[in-house]
Amino acid sequence: MTDRIKEFLARHPEDGPRLVVDLDIVRDNYASFAKALPDTRVFYAVKANPAPEILDLLARLGSCFDCASAPEIEQALAAGAAPERISFGNTIKKERDIARAFALGVRLYAVDCEAEVEKIARAAPGSRVFCRILCDGAGAEWPLSRKFGCAPEMAARVLERAHALGLVAHGLSFHVGSQQRDPRMWDGALKVSAAIFRDLAERGIELTMLNLGGGFPTRYLKDVAPVRAYGRAIFRALRRHFGNRIPETIIEPGRGMVGNAGIIEAEVVLISKKADSDENRWVYLDIGKFNGLAETMDEMIRYPIRTEFDEDELSPCVLAGPSCDSVDVLYEKDPYLLPVSLEIGAKVLIEGTGAYTTTYSSVGFNGFAPLKSYVI
Ligand SMILES: *Cc1c(COP(=O)(O)O)cnc(C)c1O
Repeated sequence: MTDRIKEFLARHPEDGPRLVVDLDIVRDNYASFAKALPDTRVFYAVKANPAPEILDLLARLGSCFDCASAPEIEQALAAGAAPERISFGNTIKKERDIARAFALGVRLYAVDCEAEVEKIARAAPGSRVFCRILCDGAGAEWPLSRKFGCAPEMAARVLERAHALGLVAHGLSFHVGSQQRDPRMWDGALKVSAAIFRDLAERGIELTMLNLGGGFPTRYLKDVAPVRAYGRAIFRALRRHFGNRIPETIIEPGRGMVGNAGIIEAEVVLISKKADSDENRWVYLDIGKFNGLAETMDEMIRYPIRTEFDEDELSPCVLAGPSCDSVDVLYEKDPYLLPVSLEIGAKVLIEGTGAYTTTYSSVGFNGFAPLKSYVI
């Protein structure tokens, strides 16, 4: 909780829920990434929070942008990023959208199969492509499964095909899973990457870029290592596997750039029990899975929640959202401890909510408005 957010909430009381993002924290986070990985360019993952004020600030600071769609590319351009600072990092793109990105000047594209390479060769001729390899996501609180990337042995073929079709086989990418709590998890992917670099070099294709993805954590209830620990572990792994021929590297932080910059103010709508013998109270907030807290899915992300009564005795609560959908329960398998004195109508502050909240909020399920956002 920053003083600026505290003041803003006090000066502008309002019916919520609402997210407030402090740009000073985003600026600090950018500086920490730049310092922790000094030879690495930052491509902010726009999907984490595309608020124009955030994109404007990062563009001014010199950040590049990882975009997943044509509208995200337009948002990055509107913030003042030149097209050379934008990558189209989604491996699943309509050919029409590739053509649109190409017309807007974007020349850097992610792929993970030959069919996507063929689309890019047709719609964005001569561009640079990087191939995403599968990563198992072990150690991550929000793993990214098998949806993106291909097996290492396939990556070499995909890039060879790109080369043959007149594209620039630029490099590789991977994502170690979001909210990755173990800085050593980059090592395995870098080992595999180095082998692909060598393999392709033998076939006359010199890759020059390594995209280290996102995954940098933000602090929720559990402590996380500082970004400099990640920088050190990654640099050591690069040295181990690439020796003194370390390629150009980029990172794509999303959560780590904006997560801790935002706080949601929400309100307790109801507190009840399901039976006299019920050990847990049910606490219903005016925010749930559909208007900002989608990452509580499977209770994966556990946000710190502050109340005015935090000094008081705590008791286990099932925490739920306001909508009439039974999946709109935030924490039940592992009940959340909240003060016994918490009252209906009380405000609560949900910390670490700068990333993946507004963008995961529905347009109005059950008539609940999308999450309001203020960037200060
Ligand atoms: C979502 C995404 C990111 C950002 O991941 P974080 O874990 O939030 O840092 C980076 N790269 C790609 C390709 C993504 O899809």
